[in-house]
Amino acid sequence: MQRDIQMRFGEVVIPRSQLENDPEFKQKLLAKHYKSYPLCLCRPGTGTQMVIAYHSKSKTYALKRKQYSGEQHAADCPSSYEAERRERNESTPVPDSAILRLADGSTKFNLSTPTTMREPTVPQETSLVTGNQKKPAKRKTLGLLGLLSFLYQEAGFNSWSPNMYGKRRYAQLYKYLMQKAEEIVVKGDVLAHQLWMPEPYKKDDQENIEARRQDTFNKRLYGPDGRPRRMLVVGVLRKLVPTPHGIGIKLAQAPDNLIFWMNDKTAGSYQRQFGGGEDPLKQLGEGDYLLIIMTVERTERDHFFVAQVASLKTTSAYIPYSTPQERTLAIDLVDKSRYFTRPMHIEDTPGIPKPNFYLHDADIAMHIYADSSDPHAAQALKQDESYYERTDEPHWVWRLGEGEEGVKHPPLPAPADTNATPLAKQA
Ligand SMILES: [Zn+2]
Repeated sequence: MQRDIQMRFGEVVIPRSQLENDPEFKQKLLAKHYKSYPLCLCRPGTGTQMVIAYHSKSKTYALKRKQYSGEQHAADCPSSYEAERRERNESTPVPDSAILRLADGSTKFNLSTPTTMREPTVPQETSLVTGNQKKPAKRKTLGLLGLLSFLYQEAGFNSWSPNMYGKRRYAQLYKYLMQKAEEIVVKGDVLAHQLWMPEPYKKDDQENIEARRQDTFNKRLYGPDGRPRRMLVVGVLRKLVPTPHGIGIKLAQAPDNLIFWMNDKTAGSYQRQFGGGEDPLKQLGEGDYLLIIMTVERTERDHFFVAQVASLKTTSAYIPYSTPQERTLAIDLVDKSRYFTRPMHIEDTPGIPKPNFYLHDADIAMHIYADSSDPHAAQALKQDESYYERTDEPHWVWRLGEGEEGVKHPPLPAPADTNATPLAKQA
């Protein structure tokens, strides 16, 4: 049975079925609320913003999800990517998303990285069903970077509104990541029960904080059966230190003698992500952070050994970025008091462009493309152009010239004159 999802228009709440069954009512309602953001109430909480589009040719209004917001909706909501995938693939089953949003507000995240000692690594993508035999396709899986990106997105740290200026510190990061970890289920258990993140440093409370840390480690590093297992650790990298056993990771806010060791193999594969050998911290811009996620186990000698590790670069305002151009834009958008999201693109949605930013106060997707000598950039540009031609959705393009370092971008789109966009839940 299809659930009848409610929608909020200003003060009134209306089931979606009523809109679909009564086109005249729907047109009147949408006209009345044009230029506001109705809320889809498919999941508990404040709701997910939708937009009302006006088609001048047919003189009709349509209700649409906001660009790139499909995965904010519950899997059974008609506005979710899941629903779109189902519709597009009625005859050919495809693997479902690795992220399953449930109507009760929790989310299942299908992690490929082992968290027990002997668990084999699950292949990243399961094969499709062949022949006529119809079996339900398995869910996809994602690795540590996917999990960190997802947690980060859920905590809202990839979105910015000007009232956050000067208020985003480690304490907020800790609070919101840990809060969201309560709502995500990984390998059958709540993420918060498997995760440790250093508590914000407080000089007067250090003894209690250290006691809580030890207690948490003891709980996380053993399963209910008493067997040792791996815990997940998230933090901000403070320093890499050479040790007799390999490279050690020290986290910001954590005690100085707490070191997570990487053996040569782990360290090598980690450093290859940063173009080999170089200290990743040296590749950050001034004031930036490197967020780390890792699976950690305790050795017999009471060392903490890193099994797998991944990381995410952010600006000093904790906006994630992957290229220097993204960093430039992220800093500029913050300085110019704009409302925006840096989409995490955790999973590929084929056929839908992957903007580098989304400007909420102008309702416009922002794209950065490398210069034309990069075949991937040329391909992406071509696909995106045909998408935007078809959908007529507004977008902004910064295309780097050949050999250009890309420090200057084209003028930013002006903020639209609507009753914009309270994204902020963080204070
Ligand atoms: Zn929805």
